[in-house]
Amino acid sequence: MSDKYTQFVSQGFGRELARRLGLPRPVELRRYEAGKPLVPGPVLVLGNGDEGRSQSAEGIAVELLSWGLDVRRNALPKEKLGAIVLMLDQVRRPEDLEVPMLTAARSIRDLAPGGRVVTVSRTADSAEDPAAAAARQGIDGIVRSLAKELRDGATANGILLGRDATPQSPGALGALRFFLSGRSAFVDGQLLTVSSEAGRAPGDPDKPLAGKVAVVTGAARGIGAAIARTLHRDGAVIVAVDVPAAGDHLAEVANEVRGTALQLDITVPDAGERIIHHALERHGRLDILVHNAGITRDKLLANMDDGRWRSVIAVNIASQLRINDAILGSGRLPVAPRIVSVASTSGIAGNRGQSNYAASKGGVIGMVRAAAPLLEARGGAINAVAPGFIETEMTARIPFLTREVARRLNSLQQGGTPADVAEAIAFLASDAASGVSGEVLRVCGQNLVGA
Ligand code: NAD
Repeated sequence: MSDKYTQFVSQGFGRELARRLGLPRPVELRRYEAGKPLVPGPVLVLGNGDEGRSQSAEGIAVELLSWGLDVRRNALPKEKLGAIVLMLDQVRRPEDLEVPMLTAARSIRDLAPGGRVVTVSRTADSAEDPAAAAARQGIDGIVRSLAKELRDGATANGILLGRDATPQSPGALGALRFFLSGRSAFVDGQLLTVSSEAGRAPGDPDKPLAGKVAVVTGAARGIGAAIARTLHRDGAVIVAVDVPAAGDHLAEVANEVRGTALQLDITVPDAGERIIHHALERHGRLDILVHNAGITRDKLLANMDDGRWRSVIAVNIASQLRINDAILGSGRLPVAPRIVSVASTSGIAGNRGQSNYAASKGGVIGMVRAAAPLLEARGGAINAVAPGFIETEMTARIPFLTREVARRLNSLQQGGTPADVAEAIAFLASDAASGVSGEVLRVCGQNLVGA
């Protein structure tokens, strides 16, 4: 589903007019559909050794073949590529980037619409010497620049390996599959760290959440309802949580995904205990918790009142801290769940009229980083997604011109859908993201604000 402007400039007169006037020409993004190929063509795998060869590139090429993909170690003239995977995990000096990048450069124009470039490299802070750190940090700049250059819905993202991870770690392979697939349609110009070798890949990549029980807060509508649908599609049993006032919509969503509804205001002191109790009594386990419920009460700080400030902090962050404490303190959960919290680009870049909201969403990011070791010690994980401009009832209320500008201000020149946010959450909630914890993944089409 695309917005009206995107439909207008996608064909005939509209396309020609946009071309002549130099207007943005967004395209319909390649999104996940069960049964469709993972990538829209062969995958070119390049390494950072001579002629784009390296041991890790050999290993990944073999892995991609085992996924049933068509793999190339050398580009064929004029052949359209579904993706380019750049194994840069062995770069030692900035000069080492030249051969792989210029080899890849020759194939960029052959990328199919909706194609992918994915780099795999090591985190700069795991380098032993400044030259290696410089080379590794340089890859960050490359990914973000290339993402801004690609067209036709193609994206560039990177996987960063921490000291204890390798290209073959379950989390690294899971992240590679996510970035290659249509599930990452609105994730662009982002780098995701895999810090450990922990975990194992899900058995069935199309049902990565089979057998899991997932609690989703704010599930009655908007992004929360999309999260419930996507986690259900991926095999999870859903506990849909929302305020009693949203009871009818909540029941509709819960019925649609054949899960259960829990009417609960997450700001009540015992919200955590009630969530744990419901999940265990009704479903016998709790594997995933998505903190999605959130509100906005916008006002310039100069006009802010205590009601607006207090309610946003209470719903968007204080409740999450309290629920997480209940999870960590509960003797009833043998293993801590994988938690995914919804932040916002406003919490990264700030936004006029949103000092209270940005405090809460920046708070989510701080919480996720600090809580990660606590959850990992109990076999769980916690990560956040930070959506940018998403087409929801909330953004539909923005005045037309402001909205039109806001939704074009990213490399994909369009707003994302609730399903795009839900796909990133489903990935982070799954074993495919093993070894990924304390991370913030932006789902913003590489929003130019706070990029
Ligand atoms: P929405 O208003 O459509 O839905 C939010 C849901 O949360 C509602 O069903 C509401 O009843 C529920 N909720 C609110 N307070 C609650 C409480 N105390 N207890 C239980 N449930 C409660 O919002 P949305 O656009 O779908 O946003 C979902 C999340 O994504 C929010 O955290 C929001 O801040 C974040 N987000 C949205 C956008 C966007 O563009 N829409 C961008 C960035 C981040």
